[in-house]
Amino acid sequence: MTTAVEIRGVSKSFGETNAVVDLDLNVPTGSLCGFLGPNGAGKSTTIRMLMSIIHADKGSVQVLDTTALKAKDRIGYLPEERGVYRKMKVGGFVEYIGKLKGVRGSILRKRINDWLERVELPGIQNRRCEELSKGMQQKVQFLAAIIHEPELIILDEPFAGLDPVNARVIGKIINELHQQGRTILFSTHVLPQAEQICDRIIMIDQGKKVLDGTVGSIQDQFDPRVIRVEPVDHTCDLSNISGASQIANTSKGKHLLMRLEDNAEATEVLRQIVQSTPVRGIEIVKPTLDEVFIEQVARRRGHEAALQVREEMSHA
Ligand code: ADP
Repeated sequence: MTTAVEIRGVSKSFGETNAVVDLDLNVPTGSLCGFLGPNGAGKSTTIRMLMSIIHADKGSVQVLDTTALKAKDRIGYLPEERGVYRKMKVGGFVEYIGKLKGVRGSILRKRINDWLERVELPGIQNRRCEELSKGMQQKVQFLAAIIHEPELIILDEPFAGLDPVNARVIGKIINELHQQGRTILFSTHVLPQAEQICDRIIMIDQGKKVLDGTVGSIQDQFDPRVIRVEPVDHTCDLSNISGASQIANTSKGKHLLMRLEDNAEATEVLRQIVQSTPVRGIEIVKPTLDEVFIEQVARRRGHEAALQVREEMSHA
């Protein structure tokens, strides 16, 4: 497995703030990797080091088998701070960026037209950037980041500020770029967005890595703590099952969710449920990334902080 991004033992502080602390991170070539963490976790700082906008206090950063600086033109980068050249026309702006990255002439113009259609902004080449809504500007900035067809695409909060329809448009394009074999690293503080499209997740909290792996392998590392039951008789009483307590009725009362107590064995509780009432279906529910992450934060910082982080990371 080759590696598009390799960070070893990297730390970065701003005065008293330790933004990134002894971070190790690998992004395999061809992966679609979500870089997750609450606001202030250190995501943008890490990304800025990958773009050699700022430099690590210690540790090493390798991008596309070379230094971050040398790799710069082979990376497509959407910074967190949004900015198009306001007075420029859309076509002129993207053309300018494309030329800086070495694409020229009719190839560049055709690409710009095609991409504007893809991001559902056909025929706006001659409009000034400042006439566009914030969401439209962001889509223009996104396509400026990928117009030179880079091997590695780094997107800092690409969905922030987009409405759900536009977020879906960008999500779909990210997926297609991934299908073409490009490596994509994107940061987000919104967990469900990442869970849907990533094949790999790296999560940081307070500058330290807390999770790293494929979505499946992360889920497998953690014990499932919930059983979903669909009893034949919805009024059945499962309160005497030892090792689990009922936490919710779901989907119009068809399913019950049972939370396992800390020392309970999922298979044993499952056996007890089946013995005490006929069921249409029963399954051990894999933990969501949200649950796994919250558990990690709770371990490090306590339950209160974890609940706050959950609130922050559950929506845009
Ligand atoms: P994230 O992108 O995960 O929201 P950041 O990397 O932007 O987090 O920030 C991590 C921490 O570093 C925060 O506490 C932030 O306030 C601080 N920080 C980031 N950039 C600077 C800077 N240029 N000067 C001072 N503090 C900074």
